[in-house]
Amino acid sequence: MTTNDPDCLFCKIAAGEVPADVVRRGDRVMAFRDINPQAPTHVLLIPRDHHPDAASAARAGTGLLDEIAREAHAVAESEGIADTGYRLVFNTGSGAGQTVFHLHGHLLGGRGLEWPPG
Ligand code: IMP
Repeated sequence: MTTNDPDCLFCKIAAGEVPADVVRRGDRVMAFRDINPQAPTHVLLIPRDHHPDAASAARAGTGLLDEIAREAHAVAESEGIADTGYRLVFNTGSGAGQTVFHLHGHLLGGRGLEWPPG
């Protein structure tokens, strides 16, 4: 069963109601470029179904985090950054910078990435 939230921006992107620069489209997960990129490659990976964050998707036993990690690596390969390295980040909670409450992984790469992040 597909679940979505009519007020959620990323549900609207998943449904094709809001345009996005899509780089990969799977049955359960899709990838599109971040509108405000923080690195030469900055792609968001989202499930089509609505889950507010990574913790809730994990609790529900969806397997979506595995799938997002696999899809992120496939995007990294197609972007040519799989060998040099990339970062896959799930901001979880407003204190960590989450602003869109629909699970998404940030795939960042194409430049040196410092640690710890800000
Ligand atoms: P968060 O801060 O971890 O929740 O990440 C949300 C991300 O969504 C930010 O990096 C935004 O730049 C990005 N974003 C917001 N609206 C859009 C959009 O319409 N298309 C693509 N990316 C978006």
